[in-house]
Amino acid sequence: MRPFAYERPTTIPAAVALLAEHGPGARLLAGGTDLIIRLRDGTIRPQMVVDLKRIAELDDEIREGDGGLTIGARTTMTDIAADPRIRRDFQALAEAAAVVGSVQIRNRATLAGNICNASPAADTAPALLVYGAIVVVTGPDGTRRIPIDEVFVGSGVTTLARGELVAAVELPRPTDRRGSVHVRRTRRRGHDLASVTLACAVTADGVTRMAYGSLGPRPVVVSDETGVLADPAAPDDAKMQSLEPLFLDASPSATSMRASPEYRLAMLRVLGLRAVGTAIERLAEASVGGP
Ligand SMILES: Cc1cc2nc3c(=O)[nH]c(=O)nc-3n(C[C@H](O)[C@H](O)[C@H](O)COP(=O)(O)OP(=O)(O)OC[C@H]3O[C@@H](n4cnc5c(N)ncnc54)[C@H](O)[C@@H]3O)c2cc1C
Repeated sequence: MRPFAYERPTTIPAAVALLAEHGPGARLLAGGTDLIIRLRDGTIRPQMVVDLKRIAELDDEIREGDGGLTIGARTTMTDIAADPRIRRDFQALAEAAAVVGSVQIRNRATLAGNICNASPAADTAPALLVYGAIVVVTGPDGTRRIPIDEVFVGSGVTTLARGELVAAVELPRPTDRRGSVHVRRTRRRGHDLASVTLACAVTADGVTRMAYGSLGPRPVVVSDETGVLADPAAPDDAKMQSLEPLFLDASPSATSMRASPEYRLAMLRVLGLRAVGTAIERLAEASVGGP
């Protein structure tokens, strides 16, 4: 690992000032589960690492407000997976957080880090897309709230400007009964990044939202408003026909070591159909504003 300067600011303005001063040579550190690996293998060689863990405004709280939940930038996967409000109203996110890495990784890995690392295989991304999460970003020009779909650009690339950092993630409160689920496919049991990671939510008004990752440079979110997917009585072949157009933007890499494009596309169909079935079952059990 190349030597670098290390700073641990205690306020957001101090962190933003360090980013402004050092430009592309500065990197933010949250849980470090992505960053440290890249420092070690030399794929990034920053002059300065800015540790966010002492910044009181970037906390690890999950707050409930009128509009929904706000997840602080330092909230870990362990805390998200265990939170009763997330498990009740945002079940796919709780399930996604629960399968990230291992216990040790989940105890360090933050939701904000998972977003900012922008891996196409990021497990929490599909759930955040399905729930229409809002990313609260702070930088030299103040604070802005960005719909999560406008954050992802490509592998490792987001729309965050230089000097900006994620302060929190907001999950809008569900306005209707909803059933949702996260599913994924990995090469082997145990720790592995997903060959397909997918979240699906079905609401009582018959709308199905689905998002999938590891099938192109960024995760994709789609929806079906015909009601066919959400119809418990619709046969699988009719559902499959409705799913096909939702998968048109899947463009898996031909050079990935994890799985072939053909395998990923086949698994996308299998998991998509399965996820719709589970979301419908959960919708039937959900109370108003429930999961
Ligand atoms: C063994 C192992 C297994 C893993 N398994 C999975 C898995 O199954 N699924 C999965 O999705 N991921 C997995 N990961 C990846 C990783 O754990 C997650 O992406 C994690 O959520 C990253 O969060 P972090 O807090 O550790 O981020 P860090 O490593 O600290 O940072 C990651 C990136 O985000 C930036 N960043 C962090 N916080 C902020 C912020 N608040 N504002 C702006 N930029 C920020 C950093 O500068 C860096 O570029 C695995 C990693 C390892 C090492």
